[in-house]
Amino acid sequence: MFEHIERVPGDAILGLIEAYKQDDNPRKVDLGVGVYRDDEGNTPVLAAVKRAEKRLEESEETKSYIGSHGDERYTNAIARLVLGEDSSALEANRISVTQSPGGTGALRLAADFIATSLPGRAIWLSQPTWPNHPAVFGAAGLELKHYPYVNADNRLDFDAMLAALNEVPAGDVVLLHACCHNPTGFDLDTDQWQQVLEVVKNRQLLPLIDFAYQGFGDGLEEDARGVRLFVESLDEVLVTSSCSKNFGLYRERTGALMIAAANEKQMLDVRSQIAITARENYSTPPSHGAAVVGEILTDDELTTLWLKELAQMRDRINGLRSDFVEALRPHGLAERFAFIGEQRGMFSYTGLDADQVKRLRDEFSIYMVGSGRANVAGLSANSLDYVAEAIASVVR
Ligand code: PLP
Repeated sequence: MFEHIERVPGDAILGLIEAYKQDDNPRKVDLGVGVYRDDEGNTPVLAAVKRAEKRLEESEETKSYIGSHGDERYTNAIARLVLGEDSSALEANRISVTQSPGGTGALRLAADFIATSLPGRAIWLSQPTWPNHPAVFGAAGLELKHYPYVNADNRLDFDAMLAALNEVPAGDVVLLHACCHNPTGFDLDTDQWQQVLEVVKNRQLLPLIDFAYQGFGDGLEEDARGVRLFVESLDEVLVTSSCSKNFGLYRERTGALMIAAANEKQMLDVRSQIAITARENYSTPPSHGAAVVGEILTDDELTTLWLKELAQMRDRINGLRSDFVEALRPHGLAERFAFIGEQRGMFSYTGLDADQVKRLRDEFSIYMVGSGRANVAGLSANSLDYVAEAIASVVR
C-alpha cells in the first residue's frame, strides 16, 4: 500500500539547521532557528529550572497520570502570570485553564474546540504569521483567512489591519499575537489594542490570542496588556500560552489554553468539551515541565531567580537590537534598519528579499529563513560587525 505515498519536503527550518551544521566556515552565524541563544550561541537550562528539578526529583512520589486539564498548581499559577494577580475574570471563576503540550498543543486544542463546538467559523490570521498557525488550524479543518499586518516596506500597517478586521463576518475567529509578533517583531501599542478591541466588540468576533513570548518583549506585565485588556473587557476570549521561551522549557512541551466565558456555568460547559478534545488527541499532558513551572511560581526564592534570568534574556535581545543598528551605522544603513531597534521579541523582519537571504548564506554563511526573518538572539558581540558588513554588501 505504501508504494503510492508521496514524499513531502521537510520543514524548511529543519533543512536550514542541517545546512548550518554541515557548513565548516568558522564565521558561520545561525539566525534561523527560533530558540533563545546566549552570547556563546547556547540555549542553556535556566538555573531556576535546574533548582526546581532537583527539588522535584526528591519530592516526586508517583508517575501516575495527571488529569486531562493538567496539574492544578501549574494551571493556577500560569493563569495568574498571564491574566494578572488581580484579574477580576479569575476572581469571577469564568476562566478555564488547561495544561497543554506546549503552546502548539494549546493552539490545536483551541482549533479542535472551534471546529467541533463552533462549526462554520473561519479563522483570520495576520499576513504574515508563524507558519505553524495555518498548518495547525488547517489540519483541524478550519477555513483560513488573512488580514494584512505589514505594508510593502515590511512595516506595521495598522490602518490596513483595522480596516480588514472591520470587514470580518460576525462570529469568525481572529488570531492576534499578544507580543513579540512572529515573524515581524512589530507589536500593537495600548491605543491600538483598544481600537482592535472596539472592532472585535462591534463585529462580534471571537479573539484567540497567542501568547508565546511573555517576558521577552518589554516585561512580564507590559507584554500581557493586550491579553488582560481583552479578557477583562470581553465575555469570550481564547488565550494560548507557552513556557517554551520564557522558562526555556522548549522540549518539555509546557503550555496552557485559557478560555474566558461569560460566567462560571458557561465556563464549565466549555471546559468539559476541552477535556474531551485533550482526551481524543493525547489523553493527558506530560507532567515534567508544568511541575517545574509550578514549583518556580509558588516559591519566592525560585520566582526571584527566574525573574532575574528572564530579564537577562530580554535585555540581551533588546541590547543586541540597538547594538546591531549601531553596527550598521558605519555602512550608512542605521536609518534604513532603525526599525530593528523598535521591534520586540526574538525575531526581526529585516526586509531582505529571498535573493539577498540566499547571498548571505552562500557568500557569508549567515543563515536565516527565506522570508528575511532573523532570530536576533542568534547574534553575538563577536558576530555583529561581520553580519552588518555582510548585509551592507548584499543590499548594495
Ligand atoms: N506561537 C508562536 C507565535 C510561536 O512562535 C511559537 C513557537 O515558536 C508557538 C506558538 C509555540 O511554541 P511551543 O509549542 O514550542 O510552546
